[in-house]
Parts: sequence; C-alpha cells; structure tokens
Amino acid sequence: MNGRLHTPEGIELARTALALMAEHGVAPTPQNYAVWVSYASDSIPELCEALQERIARGGPIEDDFCEDLYERHFTFKRIQDAVIETGGAMSRELGVVVRTLEDVERDTAAYGEALAGASGALETSTDESSLRRMVEGLVSATARMQRRSRELERRLQETSSEVDQLRDNLEKVREEAMTDALTGVANRKRFDEAMRKSRRAAELQGDDFSLILCDIDHFKRFNDTWGHQTGDQIIRFVAACLSRFSKDHHLVARYGGEEFAVVLPKTRLDDAMAIAEKVRATVESKRLLRKSTNEDLGHITVSMGVSQHRLGESVEELIERADVNLYKSKQTGRNRLTTDGVQATAAA
Ligand code: GH3
Ligand code: MG
Ligand code: MG
Repeated sequence: MNGRLHTPEGIELARTALALMAEHGVAPTPQNYAVWVSYASDSIPELCEALQERIARGGPIEDDFCEDLYERHFTFKRIQDAVIETGGAMSRELGVVVRTLEDVERDTAAYGEALAGASGALETSTDESSLRRMVEGLVSATARMQRRSRELERRLQETSSEVDQLRDNLEKVREEAMTDALTGVANRKRFDEAMRKSRRAAELQGDDFSLILCDIDHFKRFNDTWGHQTGDQIIRFVAACLSRFSKDHHLVARYGGEEFAVVLPKTRLDDAMAIAEKVRATVESKRLLRKSTNEDLGHITVSMGVSQHRLGESVEELIERADVNLYKSKQTGRNRLTTDGVQATAAA
C-alpha cells in the first residue's frame, strides 16, 4: 500500500480517507487510517461492506468499531504475510540442503564403487603399480567424501540457525498480533484463545475458572473534557492496575475501547472478587494528572462484573453472565463489582 500512496492516485486516496474520517468523527490514529484508506480504495470487500453498513446507520463511528475492523483485517493479514514469507524462506533453505544431500549421495555411491572395485582388485591384483593406483584412487575418493560431509555439516548448521531465526521472527509477529498496541496487554484474539483454553481445562479437569469484565465509568465524558490522548493515558493506567493485581497465570486483555477482561484459570470466584476489588479501589483512589502539563484530572472509577464458570457452560455463556453483572454494576451506581446473584462491593 505504501508504494501506491506516493502516486497522485495514492495521495488522492489518502485525502479521501482523511476527509471521510473527519466526516464520521473518527480519531486520526494509524490503525483507523489503515482501515479508512482500505475503505476508500475498496481493497478489502468485507471491510468495505461492514463500514458501508455502519455509515448507512448514521451518527459518529465508534473507536471500538474501527478497532475491531483493524484487528480482523490487518493483524491477521500480517501473520499471514509472515507465514508465507517464512514458508518461502524455509523451502529455499531446505532446497539447498536437499541438493547438498543429493551431491553427497552421488559421492557416496562413487565411494562405494571405488571400495568395491578396490576389494575386487585386491583379490586379483599381483603387480605393485596397479595396487598403488588403486590406493591413490581410494585416498582421493576418501578425501572427496570428507569434504562433502564437512560441507553438508556446515550447510546443516547454517540452515538450522536460519530456521531458528525464522521461527523467532514468526513468534515475534505472532506476539505482536496478539497484543493491544495502546496498552501492551493481550488483545481480543488472545483473550478468545485464553478463554477457550481455560474452559477446556475447567471442563476436562474440573478446574475453577473465573472471569472479570471491567469498564471505565463515564469515559466518554472524560474524553470529551480532556481529549482523546489523555483518554488514552487513562486506558493505559487501568490496564496497568489490572496487570498489577493479576497473577502470572491470569490474562489481562483489552476487550474493547475502554473495556477490559481478566481471564482467571484455576481461580475461584472469591479470589477473582478480591483481585477485582483491589483494582476498583486502586483506580478510585488515584489522583490523575495530565502527563504533559501536570493538570489535575480528578478521579475515575471502574465498574466490574465477575463470574465463575459453571460445568457445561460455553465461553459465550460465561461472558454473557459476566456482562450482565457488569451492566448491573452500571445500573446500580457504577464504581462497584457485581457477581452472580450477589451485589458484592459497592463504594460509598
Ligand atoms: P459508562 O459508564 O456507561 O460505561 O459510560 P461511558 O461513557 O464510559 O461509555 P460509552 O460506551 O458511552 O463511551 C465509551 C467511550 O470510550 C466512547 C469512546 O470514544 C471512548 N473510547 C473507546 N476507545 C477509546 C480509545 O482507544 N481511546 C480513547 N481515548 N477513547 C476511547
Ligand atoms: Mg464505559
Ligand atoms: Mg464500554
């Protein structure tokens, strides 16, 4: 895409994308820009269709919506590109090894023949000069074999470090594609993966498994007052609080724009509640300062829904229960946690 953007059509495309973003109230982030350039150039049919449908509904287009389009169409493509590139490089490497092996095979066959010839000649030969020729022939065939096997060893070593590097690159791309760029916590894709894995363990081994959903209260108001960038700072702050109180085997994920989830395998509901409460209290108690100017931004609060997995329940059903609990926290005054059937901690 970058190459095309240097052409006059590319510049026109960029202009159209930016104008559309402004028209629909979309923040000018690199991710949003990628989505809208793609829309303006009609390059990804499903993305265009989804965006067209959303535009037809009218009103400003939420960040969550664009973010979801980006995650779906761009991070996946990056992994796909990396896989194709790695596959190509691997197959080139293997081609070289196979050719070296074929050379070695040919030389081995010739060496075998030389040995067989020599052993036949030993039985029949009587004169000294033919015996010497035969020994010389064997010496040079042996030297050739040694050279070949050294070469093969070197090739194999090179290939093995090349393959290690390719695997590391692929792992890095995969890691990046599973991480939320703003906060550094897991993104929705990794969240889905962790939920499936934890549910499987809960079903097969009877492990406890809990889920926290956490949403920043009145965040739109905060954004409107202090601006998108300061809003981003708050999103990072809440992500850091969630990470601070979660254990190593828990997974903190950005679930949507200003909404987070913590997947808690091997964790009972009351332990999950204790973690959620620490996060809630810490967020509430922190006096926020604008990074650039040290201006006092006051306080923010979060609402949470906490649920424990029930045997036989699907991932979607568990998320739905936690979401209903989160909704109840919002309905009953925000800055609180709600769990299944019990209103747990409410701030004063
Ligand atoms: P509630 O207490 O009911 O959750 O109210 P709210 O204002 O937090 O909820 P609402 O869903 O109305 O607004 C969420 C806002 O979050 C709107 C959107 O602009 C903002 N937002 C979403 N993603 C981002 C982001 O990446 N950065 C910033 N700064 N804001 C975001
Ligand atoms: Mg909110
Ligand atoms: Mg929300």
